[in-house]
Amino acid sequence: MRAVSKGKTISSRIFGVLALLGLLAGPALAEVSLEGHFIQGGMAIGRVEPGARVWADGQRVPLAPDGRFVLGFARKAGPVVRLKVRHADGRVERRSLKIAQRKYRVQRINGLPKRKVTPSKQDLARIRRDIAEVKAARAIERKAEDFAKPFIWPVTGPISGVYGSQRILNGKPRRPHMGVDIARPTGTRVVAPADGVVVFARPDLFFTGGTLIIDHGMRMNTTYCHLSKLLVKQGDHVRQGQPIGLVGATGRATGPHLHWGANVREVRIDPQLLVPPMPKGR
Ligand SMILES: [Zn+2]
Repeated sequence: MRAVSKGKTISSRIFGVLALLGLLAGPALAEVSLEGHFIQGGMAIGRVEPGARVWADGQRVPLAPDGRFVLGFARKAGPVVRLKVRHADGRVERRSLKIAQRKYRVQRINGLPKRKVTPSKQDLARIRRDIAEVKAARAIERKAEDFAKPFIWPVTGPISGVYGSQRILNGKPRRPHMGVDIARPTGTRVVAPADGVVVFARPDLFFTGGTLIIDHGMRMNTTYCHLSKLLVKQGDHVRQGQPIGLVGATGRATGPHLHWGANVREVRIDPQLLVPPMPKGR
């Protein structure tokens, strides 16, 4: 098995080329190919031959029709994730993936409406419904490999919040920030960063306002929050670069921005690791 650790700055174009090499070499190789970001919040893509099975830390990893699979490394993952592959011929291959550890910053945000930091009983019921609906949308397994092609930024602009930071809202410690925030005026177009299917589209969630989720196959999905307008609906197939919504400040937001999140099944990963560095001058 090959495992190539790459830095945060490596371009996703190289990643794409490596993924392609893995694809071409896949079935002929005696070993599993595995490429990506072996770091907390990172994602890696592997490929096995037909008939093989894969586990990560004891959990079965679903395989796309072409034998590719995707792994997500959690905010607190590692330092080691154990991969096991049972090949079609019965041979078992084991690998310890070293996951680079990150330090996360603390971000203090003040001036949020009290209701959005300490919700009422009634709001809590609504929040629970929102969470259940999002969870159900993310649970659908679509057998596709859209996750394997390089992603593009859904919108470009100043980054005002990063993955993993510990958040203190109006002086109260709250859950870490699990996506990247890009500040742009209300009405700025947001595009699909990769091909996929819209599995969730709602204009009015309590915390995240106008919210979209796009599935990129095998439960690798990306999320778009605080949108002022949704341009697609649940069930739509989208292509990379296609407009999907408009930036806004709906839900819990102090100003207009896109909150962009990404998941690999239950694991929230860092979307910034999916794309090249933000273009300069934005
Ligand atoms: Zn955010």
